[in-house]
Amino acid sequence: MTRQISFWYDQLDPAPARRPALEGSREADVCIVGGGYTGLWTAYSLLAADPSLEVVILEAEVTGFGASGRNGGWVEGKLAGDRGHWAALGGHAGALAMERAIQRAVDEIGQVTEKEGIDCAFRKGGTLIVAQTPLQLARIEAEVEADRLWGLTAADSVVLDATAAAARVNVDGVLGARYSPHCARVQPAALAVGLGAAVERAGATIYEGTRVTAVEPGVARTEVAGRGAGEVRARFIVRATEAYTGSIAGQDRVMIPLTSCMIATEVLSGETWANIGWAEAETMLDGARKYVYIQRTGDGRIAIGGRGIPYRYGSRTDAETPPPAEVVRALRERLIALFPVLSDVTVAGAWRGVLGAPRQWAPAVGLDKKTGIAWGGGYVGEGVAATQLAGKTLADLITGRDTELTRLPWVGPFTGSWPPEPLRYAAVRGVNAMMDAADRREWRTDETSLVGRVAHLISGR
Ligand SMILES: Cc1cc2nc3c(=O)[nH]c(=O)nc-3n(C[C@H](O)[C@H](O)[C@H](O)COP(=O)(O)OP(=O)(O)OC[C@H]3O[C@@H](n4cnc5c(N)ncnc54)[C@H](O)[C@@H]3O)c2cc1C
Repeated sequence: MTRQISFWYDQLDPAPARRPALEGSREADVCIVGGGYTGLWTAYSLLAADPSLEVVILEAEVTGFGASGRNGGWVEGKLAGDRGHWAALGGHAGALAMERAIQRAVDEIGQVTEKEGIDCAFRKGGTLIVAQTPLQLARIEAEVEADRLWGLTAADSVVLDATAAAARVNVDGVLGARYSPHCARVQPAALAVGLGAAVERAGATIYEGTRVTAVEPGVARTEVAGRGAGEVRARFIVRATEAYTGSIAGQDRVMIPLTSCMIATEVLSGETWANIGWAEAETMLDGARKYVYIQRTGDGRIAIGGRGIPYRYGSRTDAETPPPAEVVRALRERLIALFPVLSDVTVAGAWRGVLGAPRQWAPAVGLDKKTGIAWGGGYVGEGVAATQLAGKTLADLITGRDTELTRLPWVGPFTGSWPPEPLRYAAVRGVNAMMDAADRREWRTDETSLVGRVAHLISGR
């Protein structure tokens, strides 16, 4: 039985047919664990580089079941992790190369969706962070100034004044905004499912309902409900399981799952859109510490997400039920605070998903040449574009090519691991509570909260 994934997934017409599970065992050149964007882009890039490769994807549920079928649809030319992290790994030049590579990924995703006929409402309208308080505006201005000092230009980010910001999107009481062109929006489940079809056309085999229990050099051990154990033997095995990485033996301290919730409105009337503006369909963040992320969808709704559900003891990832009513209410209220014209708006769908956060709070990709085991992930909430770059980089590593991509600073192991329970639970919940307290104080006083700064330092964000 397919469990609830998201409003995005339910919108797919026709609904994707479920693929067969692996029967018994088999061999392949490359075995990819996880049928989300990371696994799919890796397969796509591998087969583009060498169509003769036998590539197998093992997916525990269905393609796009994880964050890839549930996210906010921001194809963002930006990675999680602060610039200090990237500079420590690759110096200033390496960190800048990383930034330019992720910006290019946005356009490359657009090109692939066009080439493969993936109808996922891809539209590159850029991205806005809107300020509704003087403190939020000051933070945005500081961010753009930091961009300049770092070596980025006005072609990468600018501060818009209140009039220019409102001319783009008519946010209530907007004082200004940061605009960057490096972002597109998509219907995320349509991208995942379309990519699945594209990698099959290129020659990959996807097995669904096939859970990997252990990854060892040369073998991925599988479990299929009602059929028992099997395995895929392959020279290379790619771990592309993001927030669910703890489901593989021995991997439970690599990544913690963090839950983010989303709602989508009904289709808004032409009159409402005339009031809101938003003609370019930029993706949008509000200026709070625990921000909300928003997109104007291809079919004329607004999708907004952000309110997390607290971390669950033991890194549990059961995310198949709708979010609690109070979370849906909070998201709707935040939307109305941005756009009062939506005071009567109906929520057409609500869902949640889990994203993966490694201790270093920044993604990594790599291949252990001795064991043939490769990995890609740790995108925190910024993985839609990053997975494409990860897939291309993994393909270069696996096919043994020394390229500009394999020299980027994110190539290597994750540094650090999460503490075991119950420490992990206390730490993650503690930082979450600090962020909430900081936001409450900053909305009230319009002054930077010390607690918020400390929470950012502890979390590494
Ligand atoms: C609500 C939400 C909103 C987000 N919004 C954005 C956004 O707007 N922009 C952005 O850039 N990023 C966003 N993200 C993050 C982004 O969606 C992810 O970084 C990205 O989708 C990760 O892709 P992935 O393939 O690595 O992981 P996933 O999509 O999670 O895929 C992992 C797959 O592995 C499968 N799997 C897990 N364990 C096993 C196993 N043992 N055996 C076999 N298969 C297994 C899972 O079923 C799943 O299909 C968001 C995430 C969430 C949850």
